[in-house]
Amino acid sequence: MEKFRFKQLIESKLGTVKPLLVEESETSADECNVNIAQSDETADAFWDNFKKSTLVKPYDYNSTVRFQKWVKKNYPSINLGTFGIKKDGVDGKFGKLTQSAWNRVGNEYLKGGSQLNLPLTFTINEDIKRSISKARNEYLKWFSDENTRKKFKNQKLIPQLLKYINTLTSYKSYYNKNQSPNPKTFGWVKYAKSASQLNELKYKSINLNVFNIHNGKNYIASLDQVTKHEMGHLIDNFLRIYKEPTYILTQNTPTSQQEYSQTYITNDSETYSRLNNFRTIIEAGPMDDGNQMLNKFFNKIRSGTIQVKGFDLSAMYSSTKPRKASVDQANEIMKSLRKMILVNGLSSHNTQQLFSEYGIQSQGNIYVSFYLLGRLNQTSKGPEDENKKSNYLYLKFTPINQSV
Ligand SMILES: [Zn+2]
Repeated sequence: MEKFRFKQLIESKLGTVKPLLVEESETSADECNVNIAQSDETADAFWDNFKKSTLVKPYDYNSTVRFQKWVKKNYPSINLGTFGIKKDGVDGKFGKLTQSAWNRVGNEYLKGGSQLNLPLTFTINEDIKRSISKARNEYLKWFSDENTRKKFKNQKLIPQLLKYINTLTSYKSYYNKNQSPNPKTFGWVKYAKSASQLNELKYKSINLNVFNIHNGKNYIASLDQVTKHEMGHLIDNFLRIYKEPTYILTQNTPTSQQEYSQTYITNDSETYSRLNNFRTIIEAGPMDDGNQMLNKFFNKIRSGTIQVKGFDLSAMYSSTKPRKASVDQANEIMKSLRKMILVNGLSSHNTQQLFSEYGIQSQGNIYVSFYLLGRLNQTSKGPEDENKKSNYLYLKFTPINQSV
């Protein structure tokens, strides 16, 4: 594989930046909601009048009848119920029994050249199940990796963690923003405070605001990133309760929802979930350092998976010591990066927010510390600074209208 050559460049323009004090803290918020993002996509009007009673509608009567008749003929043992004029289950509705028949033999039906117009909510729910299962398998693989396991203080916890991850299958989806308790987010999970809560379904459930993720025609946010992010919080709950710290706290844990919202951008639990996403996107391994992560990032740009709009990118070294941004600094950078980093064509909030946390803005350019991202990846305990180093790796964002 082609190896990216970093430009050896020392920039002194950035000036000196004080490293942020890193300290461990036992305090925990008593808020139960962990928001993913102050969503910057507006909910599409499509869902505004959406009601739960229409969950399996609008179904397509004619194509559903054709499918039901085909099932009766070819798979008489499949139970379609007793609805319909002939009380044989042929009623043109895409209800539970027809859904289950579809999941069993739908592929056969399609192979024969026939079509069924599936209700939108059904296909979205299938996508959600697939996405949660994908996230679960990725985390299981991650925590089964020898290099991840080495990071644990308490190795005995790992089998229990894997068992817990295996149980993370439940979700609740909101289609109408008036019914959602947190309409301005993509998703959220409850903040568990005890081992017994970890076993309660509502503390394992991933809540999704479909109306912020799908506009009735297309996905406007990455479902996979949302589920991966929220599952990251659930795993974080487990590790926190069993005293296996995943990261070093760089800010006080918020004690109210208001404080949480205000400091959301640099929240350490959010950082952890964002990092989990970033690892997936660039296919980073547990021991990849900043250099390897930046190489992988550039590979994804070359392959077209990641697109960065409005900026030229370059890798550089600087003697300027990196640090995690303050809330104000990170919010300021986020203004420039918002909607600029796309993954598979969709704005990647996780990447934009993660870069904002480890960015330095100077003279219109943004310098993202891959040194710190690498430290975070290798330990997952939080980046610590090494004073000895004289060269720190940065990804430089130069606005295109400013570059010649
Ligand atoms: Zn979150």
